[in-house]
Amino acid sequence: MVNVPELFGSNVFNDDVMRDKLPKPIYKALKKTIQDGATLDDSVANAVAHAMKEWAIEKGCTHYTHWFQPLTGVTAEKHDSFITPDGDGRVIMTFSGKELIKGEPDASSFPSGGIRATFEARGYTAWDPTSPAFAKDGTLYIPTAFCSYTGEVLDKKTPLLRSMEKLSKEAVRILNILGKPEVNHVVTTVGPEQEYFLIDKDMYNARPDLIFTGRTLFGAKAPKGQELDDHYFGSIKTRIGEFMAELDRELWSYGIYAKTEHNEVAPSQHEVAPIFTTANVAVDNNELLMEILKKTAEKFDLVCLLHEKPFAGVNGSGKHNNWSLFTNTGENLLKPGKNPSENVQFLIFLAAIVKAVDDYQDLLRISVASAGNDHRLGANEAPPAILSVFLGDDLGAVVDSIEIGEEHESEGKKSMDLGVEVLPTVRKDTTDRNRTSPFAFTGNRFEFRMLGSAANIASANIILNTAVAEELREFADRLESVKDVKSAAKRLVVRTFKKHDRIIFNGDNYSEEWVEEAERRGLYNLKSVPDAVRHYLDEKNIKLFAENGVLTEQELNARYEVELENYAKLINIEALTMLDMAKKDIIPAVTEYVKSLTDTALAKQALSPDIPTSLERDLIIDLSQKLVCFSNKVKDLENDLINAGEHADDMQEYADYYCRTVFADMQALRAIGDDMETETSSEYWPYPSYGEMLFGV
Ligand code: ADP
Ligand code: MG
Repeated sequence: MVNVPELFGSNVFNDDVMRDKLPKPIYKALKKTIQDGATLDDSVANAVAHAMKEWAIEKGCTHYTHWFQPLTGVTAEKHDSFITPDGDGRVIMTFSGKELIKGEPDASSFPSGGIRATFEARGYTAWDPTSPAFAKDGTLYIPTAFCSYTGEVLDKKTPLLRSMEKLSKEAVRILNILGKPEVNHVVTTVGPEQEYFLIDKDMYNARPDLIFTGRTLFGAKAPKGQELDDHYFGSIKTRIGEFMAELDRELWSYGIYAKTEHNEVAPSQHEVAPIFTTANVAVDNNELLMEILKKTAEKFDLVCLLHEKPFAGVNGSGKHNNWSLFTNTGENLLKPGKNPSENVQFLIFLAAIVKAVDDYQDLLRISVASAGNDHRLGANEAPPAILSVFLGDDLGAVVDSIEIGEEHESEGKKSMDLGVEVLPTVRKDTTDRNRTSPFAFTGNRFEFRMLGSAANIASANIILNTAVAEELREFADRLESVKDVKSAAKRLVVRTFKKHDRIIFNGDNYSEEWVEEAERRGLYNLKSVPDAVRHYLDEKNIKLFAENGVLTEQELNARYEVELENYAKLINIEALTMLDMAKKDIIPAVTEYVKSLTDTALAKQALSPDIPTSLERDLIIDLSQKLVCFSNKVKDLENDLINAGEHADDMQEYADYYCRTVFADMQALRAIGDDMETETSSEYWPYPSYGEMLFGV
């Protein structure tokens, strides 16, 4: 039996441990740093470092690492041991405040988008005391921010922390104006729901595409997919059940509030959702969670696929970013209360968010852009690439009535009669659930649903926080000087909803009509990474980041370059993998099968010319024709890859080329490959089929 309360956070240098291990004044000084961002002096840093080291050694650690989140999208770490020579040929274990606070990894191999010249390879990592350190695999992990020698931000954590501070500042201003002087801090909370696939390790190892790119580049559909909806919330198989139990234990030990585990829509697809926490910690926890998912899968001879679209034809995987704001007095600012239409404070925040989504649709789309996620957005399964806000019937009616200037009597929380006496009455949420909306109000928070399963959720939260902070700033500037704040606020709410009405949509986001309607409304529909990220450098966006002190124009430019370059590199790897598979495995396999058919036909003929061989003949002709066609597509792809170099001078053009030309070639090649798979004996086909992978666990 596991003792969950005892296990929970046992690998984390959390508040309890700190209070226990640190002298009182040190603990107090550290808490002050964490809460108010006060600078830490050397004596405090040394004492904290010492306590951390002692604790880590008890947990079996010999090393420490500054753990950071460079622009590659995955976490990075460099391990140093605690050992120091004692002068007598022995070692002692030491860890100083300086080592805790600052690290100096060789940064030359991390993408910087041209910020850091290669001769200046130095980068710095700086301890983030707001996210707790933890012990894992014999190493003390210290969450850190990462910047260049000259101070430019090279990571995802720094802008996130900046955006949280900015949002706090502007939200506090508004609340003070609206008559809440006791509020001095507002935190962003995030609860990410994570989807993933689990497949058998042997099958994974037989697929070069999964190994090199995380998704299948070839593969004909299985006779059964997800059409029966029998996997969603279905009973969990034993092996998966054991995996989930172990996953929970691991996550709990790292202080991650794993709460919900269930099967998802596609076969072999699952979800894990932790309880929400501060945005910054939620980001670190989600990075750790993705790693633990992979490691735990290995223990069960499974492989966890975090790619957004591992299999064509069945649902891909996303991540729902549940987002809200809490005051230091414990109030959730996105709770509508009993009568939202009367709740000016709630309406102000709601209006700011609606306006932020409308004004910065392009940036929100960029924040979820990745080559993998391009397969989901707009592919009729995930929220489309078009941003819109879902408010639900009740709140939607409130906003409608505000727009026409009437009071709406909110129905508030109604009881739902399930018609069975023994069942307790279930309280109905103030929103019904619209699963198709990319940005939905879900009762006491917003759920941003466009994120891909492999994404670092920092990106989305940076944009959300910054955009909302900007709108709140504008509101606060207006309201600051007026006499009658309440009625001015009401007027502001009315004006904002009227002006940004176009972004609100409560219908089916997957429908073709919505795509047309959105175009009429003038909303963006940015379908691919290169289409989206070009808007990074739109003037209003540069201004947003610069004026809110989140990213400078140069830092933004770096991000733009890095994303385009990553995109082109990824498609390039996929293309090369496909060529390898096509030439080394698929063409030889089909040729071999055609030969066996020919042998059979010849043998039959030799036995007696009366034995019919039309079956073999038809197949031989058909497959031979397809082989020619297939090998022509191979040549097209090869040629277009060679020509890519001609576009390399301009990163935007380069990425566009990969998107429009190379990717199109890949799809054409795959179509014929998949077609041949359906006609080739499985004995000859070189890879496990979709059926085997998706139903094999
Ligand atoms: P569903 O699948 O119905 O959307 P889940 O229970 O799977 O709901 O996930 C909801 C997520 O939203 C959880 O991570 C939960 O902790 C998070 N959440 C709930 N309230 C808030 C809030 N106020 N701020 C941020 N996240 C929240
Ligand atoms: Mg959800």
